[in-house]
Amino acid sequence: MKREITCIGCPMGCLISAEVENGSILSMSGYTCPRGEIYAKQELTTPERAITTLIRCAGATPLSVKTASGVPKAKIPECLAAIHAAKVTLPVKEGQVVLHNVCGTGVDVVATRDISGSWLMVSG
Ligand code: SF4
Repeated sequence: MKREITCIGCPMGCLISAEVENGSILSMSGYTCPRGEIYAKQELTTPERAITTLIRCAGATPLSVKTASGVPKAKIPECLAAIHAAKVTLPVKEGQVVLHNVCGTGVDVVATRDISGSWLMVSG
């Protein structure tokens, strides 16, 4: 199957074309640097996305969080459920890890802002 993706490695936005069969890349062209080749190989075989979401916080505004890097696209629903079920003691500082190794991906979830107080974050 022919696939086309736009590289997001830099503003050049090279259009990369590939022939992919059963998750294997048979041929690929259009990238103009090694970074583009690495990006395209990952995107075409094991795509990842960073997650940004909120955790409800009893007695305070929701805490915004994000994954420290991309997680496999197929694991996003599972990761979201785990993040929303996380319980973290406040206060929380921006950049603090609130969930380690979400769903065995090896990726931590970090706070993207400070929240002060002594409530317990809950979800549901
Ligand atoms: S292939 Fe290289 S030059 Fe082209 S968009 Fe990607 S990073 Fe930029």
